[in-house]
Amino acid sequence: MAVLDGKVALVTGGNGGIGLGMARGLAAAGARVVVAARNAAKSEAALRELRALGPEPLAVHADVTDERSVEALFAEAVARCGRLDVLVNNAGTNIRKPAQELALAEWTRVIDTNLTSAFLCARAAHPHLKRAGGGKLINVGSMLSIFGASFAPAYGASKGGIVQLTRSLASAWATDRIQVNAILPGWIDTELTQQARQQVAGLHERVLQRTPAGRWGRPEDLAGIAVFLASGASDFVTGAAIPVDGGYSIQA
Ligand code: NDP
Repeated sequence: MAVLDGKVALVTGGNGGIGLGMARGLAAAGARVVVAARNAAKSEAALRELRALGPEPLAVHADVTDERSVEALFAEAVARCGRLDVLVNNAGTNIRKPAQELALAEWTRVIDTNLTSAFLCARAAHPHLKRAGGGKLINVGSMLSIFGASFAPAYGASKGGIVQLTRSLASAWATDRIQVNAILPGWIDTELTQQARQQVAGLHERVLQRTPAGRWGRPEDLAGIAVFLASGASDFVTGAAIPVDGGYSIQA
């Protein structure tokens, strides 16, 4: 269903994992996708996939923790695509250590990559989304937007912050006809969580046991919600934080 025909969607961290899963869905729904990330080889590989699904995609090298890089990213995306309708703030990272062992530089790196980046990108996107006359902003939270984890103090703080940032932006920009929502993925099989499985003993089994769906999620499990939140079907949905977790968050 080409519900996103004529739309331009920028996905940070769209060259792998969940970002690429959402980018595939957006492209298949008719959007021209802009992939923003640092690893050029991964971005090229993502473009090859996206080209087969939808309108000519674009990769822009960007570090979302860097204010000037973010400003340049949006300037280039809009110069080359002519407009911006959808922003997906997906880029993220984690450093797994208890708080008493976490250096300030590690805390800052996680907060900057996961939370400050979302503010910088949202701020840069705002005039373009407003001009599009019906813009969509999608932030990626986590189960750690809801729960705590002993090994992820900075990550949990950043993902809790993502939900509150989502609500603030949704309130502020509703009159600009911009809807702002968060997706809270459950445990999804990506590079990020392959690392987690190596570092956190018993994680793999705990996830399988607690998830009613009985499996880890896959990046493509996030495609449908991304298309919904990017399309006119969600025009009266704003400020929401929607779990996509196979039931992980409703299991006692
Ligand atoms: P991956 O590690 O597979 O992907 C992370 C992406 O972010 C990469 O594309 C990476 O690209 C990009 N990225 C990281 N830092 C920067 C930066 N400074 N500037 C630009 N891009 C950056 O992780 P996932 O796909 O698993 O995670 C994607 C999002 O989903 C994250 O926000 C994560 O917190 C969230 N999430 C993941 C869950 C899971 O189970 N996997 C669960 C809940 C939430 P590059 O290195 O090329 O820059």
